[in-house]
Amino acid sequence: MAVPKRKVSPSRRGMRRSHEALSAPSYFECGNCGELKRPHHICGHCGHYDGREVVAAERVKPAIRI
Ligand SMILES: [Zn+2]
Repeated sequence: MAVPKRKVSPSRRGMRRSHEALSAPSYFECGNCGELKRPHHICGHCGHYDGREVVAAERVKPAIRI
């Protein structure tokens, strides 16, 4: 089994973890109902995407919690 030759220093560990930050998910207003939705996703409120109803509004599960 391959084993690291040296202990990772606190500096190197920090440099590695500098890329691990999470960014906040983006939202914008649905063009049909005005509720906040994620880009490139079906609207969780009215079931619309790209100007047409893709899923019946009653069947859409409320996925967005803000
Ligand atoms: Zn909508």
